[in-house]
Amino acid sequence: MELIKNPYAIHDEQGESELTPLSFEIYSYIEKNQRARANDSNVLRGSAATLCVRRRWYQGKGYAGTPLAPRKIINFAQGDITEKNLAYYVKEGCVGPGKTYKRVTFGKVLGETEISGRIIPVYGQLESVFRVAPGKEVLCHFDGIGQRHDDSYDLLEFKSASNYGFQKFVKNEPLDYLNQAHAYMMTEMCKHFNVKKVNFVFLRKETSHIFSREYDYDHEIAKQVTIDYLLSIARDIPLRPYGPDSKGKLPWQCSYCPYVTKCWDAKKVYRNNKPQYYVDLPTGELNNLDHLY
Ligand code: SF4
Repeated sequence: MELIKNPYAIHDEQGESELTPLSFEIYSYIEKNQRARANDSNVLRGSAATLCVRRRWYQGKGYAGTPLAPRKIINFAQGDITEKNLAYYVKEGCVGPGKTYKRVTFGKVLGETEISGRIIPVYGQLESVFRVAPGKEVLCHFDGIGQRHDDSYDLLEFKSASNYGFQKFVKNEPLDYLNQAHAYMMTEMCKHFNVKKVNFVFLRKETSHIFSREYDYDHEIAKQVTIDYLLSIARDIPLRPYGPDSKGKLPWQCSYCPYVTKCWDAKKVYRNNKPQYYVDLPTGELNNLDHLY
């Protein structure tokens, strides 16, 4: 079989150098299909709350960023599918007398699918908005709301995580998703139910271990989330929230940012197949990057 040079490898640190004709067709389809999303400059979305505020500003102002490799889009879709399966398990396994919840509400049933011989419903997400300024609303889609037996309500969020992300969650290390959850907890729907807590249910992608953790609504986080949305649509570019370490290395947020070369005069190197960006420090000591390879 004749293999095809992978045109998408340029944007993918783990991209295959060659593709079979069929895998090329799949990637091509995804690449064309994602263009509409890539041009989306509406950054007033709940899911944006985890992202660097300056990155959001670039996107909102219509700057072109490095496109996502098709393989990564498949990866996100796989996560969505996993999370829908998790919603099904929570609905079936965690509701009723003696269980965590009296009732759970997800979005409307979008259809059914067969998994391992079982026909299961596929739930959509709930939709609501929160207002950051007059005429400026953040559109939020979240997984569900759970009613406890004491009639308090939780925001429910299902996440599929890498080994690394899962371990961090288990160890209760700082969680970017908390910003997103606070955007959701400020929506009209969550306010209606007086939601004051989020229950995250994580599934480890490689092994399917499950771990959940609850976090209370935190006014300080909510305030910062609101400020960041306002900064992301401001006239002037926000300051960078991150900077290089003492060796000039930018943090991972910048390494995976589609605007890194707009934001910094940075040089890219690969370590363990992962991209890392370095900037010259004022001393100029990093002009020669050979030692990093
Ligand atoms: S490169 Fe870093 S600081 Fe700049 S926009 Fe991206 S994440 Fe933010």
